[in-house]
Amino acid sequence: MTDFLRDLSPVQQSAVSTTEGPVMVLAGAGSGKTRVITYRIAHLIGTKGVPSKNILALTFTNKAAGEMRHRVDTLLGPGASSGLWIGTFHSVFARLLRDYIERLGYSRSFSIFDSDDSKSLIRQSMTELGIQQDAVPVNTVQGLISKAKNSFILPSEFHRNASDYNQQKAALVYELYTRKLRENNALDFDDLLIKPLELFREHPDVLHELQELFRYILIDEYQDTNRAQYLVTKQLAERYRNIFVVGDDAQSIYSWRGADISNILNFQDDYRESETFKLVDNYRSTATILTAANSVISRNSRQIKKELVPQGAKGDPLTLIEAYNERNEAEKVGERILSMHREKGLEFRSFAVFYRTNAQSRVLEDAMRQSRIPYKIFGSVSFYKRREIKDAVAYLRFIQNDRDSESLLRIINFPPRKIGDVSITKLRQFAEERGLTLYEAIRSAGEGGFPQRLLTALGSFSAVIEKLRETAVDGTVYDVLHELFELTAIPSLLQAENTPESLARHENLQELLSMARDFSDHNPDRGSLGDFLENIALASDYDETQESDNFVSLMTVHASKGLEFPVVFITGLEERLFPLNCFEPEQLEEERRLFYVAVTRAREKIFLSWAQSRYLYGQPQHCLRSKFIGEIDQSVLLGEGGRAVSRGGAPAAVAAPASASFRRPAASGSPAPETAARPATGGMKKGAKVHHAVFGPGIVVELQGKGSQQKARISFRSAGEKTLMVQYANLKIV
Ligand code: ATP
Ligand code: MG
Repeated sequence: MTDFLRDLSPVQQSAVSTTEGPVMVLAGAGSGKTRVITYRIAHLIGTKGVPSKNILALTFTNKAAGEMRHRVDTLLGPGASSGLWIGTFHSVFARLLRDYIERLGYSRSFSIFDSDDSKSLIRQSMTELGIQQDAVPVNTVQGLISKAKNSFILPSEFHRNASDYNQQKAALVYELYTRKLRENNALDFDDLLIKPLELFREHPDVLHELQELFRYILIDEYQDTNRAQYLVTKQLAERYRNIFVVGDDAQSIYSWRGADISNILNFQDDYRESETFKLVDNYRSTATILTAANSVISRNSRQIKKELVPQGAKGDPLTLIEAYNERNEAEKVGERILSMHREKGLEFRSFAVFYRTNAQSRVLEDAMRQSRIPYKIFGSVSFYKRREIKDAVAYLRFIQNDRDSESLLRIINFPPRKIGDVSITKLRQFAEERGLTLYEAIRSAGEGGFPQRLLTALGSFSAVIEKLRETAVDGTVYDVLHELFELTAIPSLLQAENTPESLARHENLQELLSMARDFSDHNPDRGSLGDFLENIALASDYDETQESDNFVSLMTVHASKGLEFPVVFITGLEERLFPLNCFEPEQLEEERRLFYVAVTRAREKIFLSWAQSRYLYGQPQHCLRSKFIGEIDQSVLLGEGGRAVSRGGAPAAVAAPASASFRRPAASGSPAPETAARPATGGMKKGAKVHHAVFGPGIVVELQGKGSQQKARISFRSAGEKTLMVQYANLKIV
């Protein structure tokens, strides 16, 4: 036996050394599946003498591929992994297509269009076909086309089966878009999987050649492969049938992106002669963590029963952190990290903080920054660098400073107003000639002899800006942002697009609104737009100033797949957040698998946290504790002070400290705290005498709007006139 095989358990060794024929390893988290793939590669090269170029290993991320390659070199000596075909499906097939694409009528120098490029080509196709983008949003069309491609449905078939209006339109676009890609000598991301299939069908000799090349095929995270990935690898493996797949049906978390769990469930039917290995020993986590993981996943009815058997120590119980709002939650996470860092000497890289939705990262990032904890957002961009946030912030900056032409250029055609690059160049010339700022030029464009269509567009743009500037005079930052979203309809456009990407962007904008609300609430006298923007500018600068590679990892649970950390925080454990809104039992089961993925990332310690209130859509919402907390075997879960956790939803006395300015929303239906006076939502009328905690006594001068949107203009005796949202101002009628 080769020496390095001693690092493995007997079952793992068998999985590694059964090199011929189809093999599946179906096993739970942390049982060494990825390790087995790595060792199997080393065994094939080092012991069986298989040339590395005959091995194809497919991983879920490029990072995982890099680590595997590195590990093989460590086991066999430097350079051993060179020649190996290893990477994600996309990266490996992009490389392969360079050699064969001429057979499909493309030239070798084809471009790869990223999602933005392909969107603009789709938009162009829609315009040519006369399809109004207000009728079918471009992202919806892009999503439908991508889904069809990933299921290997060609335009003609898609057309035949199109049932609703959107699909019918998308079918037309799909056809033209495909033609245009070809004219551009370009492939989009999905093509990187589809084109090999076309190639195999039309040129069987290529398939044969590749079957000879890839004598050994290994695939990690097989439960999350989609139809196209399944078909490609199945065809490649047809001749030698040395296909080795590892996966865990309990960790299938990408069905929303077209992953098809039946790929793993049908493996034994596809390859009748296959061998299956089950690994039950878990080498990653403490016994306590595994008790928690097992107790959760056993509630899924559609899961293959698998227990994880601990190899390590018993370990500490899980700790439940209960907070009164999300800010408090983030601060508590930061405090725990700092104290474990100081007292136990744990390095920052030992910690990971998970959340369910990208938008949640903002408050966590802020807390890390305030505690001076180095952190890195993993798998996505930092909140303030996200495109939609930069767009909205550009509006705010421009409202604050109308000489900021950079911001102006960012927003002038966002949302699309049909103001093209040519018009902008002409406007710039016009501004230069007259010594005006770009915005002044826009406002006096009527004198520049521009076409009427452009003048109308510019007019509606400057109307929005002027209206917002007016609001900014005595409104809060929240008021301005809220009005911005109303006037431009940016969030509703994203919502209407209804793709996972657009919905995530929509959530981010709502989070910005929540942040503005929170900012206005906590800075009654200095809540100016300028301060708000300064905060954001400093926050977005923080990432760049971090140098060390020793940082806390922040990421969504989805991005954590396959990874492990000594200490894991799972935050936002509230109903309708984690689990996210679920309408079908299958969705709840997928959320539970996601929670299982989160729990099984931890090696030594888990903190679970939830907040009683969280700003959602700019409003504080009362939250209920996630059912997942109750599903954990309660013998392994303790509260913050080491107390047992109550089974129901009610937390053991988590009171907001008296100094906190957090207020319970009047609309949440919860009883008002004893000390608060009657919240003035009902009896508010013009002329009423009121008292505000910060501004003191005043008189209502004017009321605008109704219900939760009602605002009152109040003349305060010493603080002057202010316009406040009645629902949140906590006014007392005196
Ligand atoms: P996941 O389902 O989360 O992807 P996995 O099954 O791929 O998990 P690995 O990441 O391969 O699991 O292994 C989990 C941890 O256990 C790693 O730190 C790995 O090095 C370690 N490990 C695996 N097998 C053994 C073993 N036989 N002896 C000691 N440590 C092991
Ligand atoms: Mg793995």
